[in-house]
Amino acid sequence: MMINHRLNRIFQGIFWVLVYLFLTLLPVLVMFLPPRPPGREFIREFSVALGFVGLAMMALQFALTARFKTIKAPYGADVVYHFHRQISILAFVLILVHPILLFIPQIHPVSILNIFSPDTPWRARFAVTSLLALSGLIVMALWRKPLKIEYTRWRIWHGMLATAAVAFAMLHVLGVNWYINEPWKRLLWAGYSIFFVGLLFYTRVWKPWQLLRTPYRVREVKAERGGSWSLVLEPDGHAGLQFHPGQFAWITAFNSPFKDAEHPFSFSSAPASDGSVRFTIKELGDFTQRIKELKPGDKVYVDGPYGAFSIDRHPDAKEFVFIAGGVGITPMVSMLHTLAQRNDQRPLLLIYGGRDLESLTLIEEIEELKNRLNLRVVYVLEKPPAGWEGETGYITRKVLERWLPPERRKDRTEIFVCGPLPMMNSVEDSLTKMGFFSGDVHSERFDLV
Ligand SMILES: Cc1cc2nc3c(=O)[nH]c(=O)nc-3n(C[C@H](O)[C@H](O)[C@H](O)COP(=O)(O)OP(=O)(O)OC[C@H]3O[C@@H](n4cnc5c(N)ncnc54)[C@H](O)[C@@H]3O)c2cc1C
Repeated sequence: MMINHRLNRIFQGIFWVLVYLFLTLLPVLVMFLPPRPPGREFIREFSVALGFVGLAMMALQFALTARFKTIKAPYGADVVYHFHRQISILAFVLILVHPILLFIPQIHPVSILNIFSPDTPWRARFAVTSLLALSGLIVMALWRKPLKIEYTRWRIWHGMLATAAVAFAMLHVLGVNWYINEPWKRLLWAGYSIFFVGLLFYTRVWKPWQLLRTPYRVREVKAERGGSWSLVLEPDGHAGLQFHPGQFAWITAFNSPFKDAEHPFSFSSAPASDGSVRFTIKELGDFTQRIKELKPGDKVYVDGPYGAFSIDRHPDAKEFVFIAGGVGITPMVSMLHTLAQRNDQRPLLLIYGGRDLESLTLIEEIEELKNRLNLRVVYVLEKPPAGWEGETGYITRKVLERWLPPERRKDRTEIFVCGPLPMMNSVEDSLTKMGFFSGDVHSERFDLV
């Protein structure tokens, strides 16, 4: 049964990788098919092939980030975002090498880069504009935090620069016209263009329109420990979404879904029969500090569910271990509530780290859940109160070794990790060194960019 689940996901994963490779390489295959223009040097052809692959990769980025659930399901959202990030850098390098290879044997003079010169053809102007947009995109994505660019502003720029980079590159291909001299080759590029415009339409118009038609209303806003707020929402005029515990959704509040002002949050409740959902949100910046302003009856839009961080993907696990830091507790509480709802009595261990007892969000619910589950809870406090006999400091390898003895490592133990980035990196590293199979360690990162 478990093998079936895993195999199914592996096959799905391989299928989408093959589709991706096919769509990336298709323009090059078509380029090399006869009839081909005669007398073109190898370096020129090679440079064009790199440009085509880079462009196809960039256009496909829109599919990767369009939140198609079937594409993300086998890998999980953060793996897809990680891939999106890495593949952008590779596409950038390929696209950068494309003109450089043409300059070395002086197939084109470097002066063609001067877009203001009257001698520069429009196709070159399109190419330079595309490359500039792409360079801006990469710099802002890699160094958003050091450059102190606020996330929402960054996201708007990211979308605009990505669209400009692909659109101008397409215009460049059309302007060169050499490799699309056959009607069916033109058809291929028309197909890519329609695909690209279709994805823009889907994400910017269709998706927001669907969200507008299926709003949620605020039922309750409740203060929690650790500077957090629990936001309970109920579907307004529809059945609500179905989610697996541990998954997350994108929330839009104070704005229309067309505004592209959404933020991701994990569900902190179990799936409910009335379709209501709860998110527990830590005050951090502009958006999260305003959650407390929401009033019962206010409209909120919920796009989800997303993510592969769920016990439901491992139905045959012998036991579950949850390791959380700070507000990373939210998906764990969703999973614990669900296990209690199902009267699941498998052994559970929760290791929950925080600054002090006051900062441990949802601790009251966790304490109550201990009565309904076969659950052991270990709190790890940086600043313990006087007389505290539990774990102190951070969730180090020593702490993990105390609570996860070697015999557990051989069992079908599925481990879920969520918390601040340094904590997650250190816990993942410790678990690997302790001999846990990395496929049994599942992580959710709250920091996408
Ligand atoms: C899968 C996932 C699940 C999450 N679950 C929870 C949760 O259950 N509870 C909780 O308190 N937080 C959760 N977060 C984090 C939460 O999304 C951010 O704290 C929130 O978006 C910050 O917005 P802000 O404007 O208040 O803060 P800002 O100060 O603007 O942002 C702080 C940081 O949050 C991230 N961020 C900001 N805006 C966005 C956005 N629109 N989309 C993506 N990331 C953004 C950026 O890394 C930014 O540097 C989750 C994040 C992810 C990716």
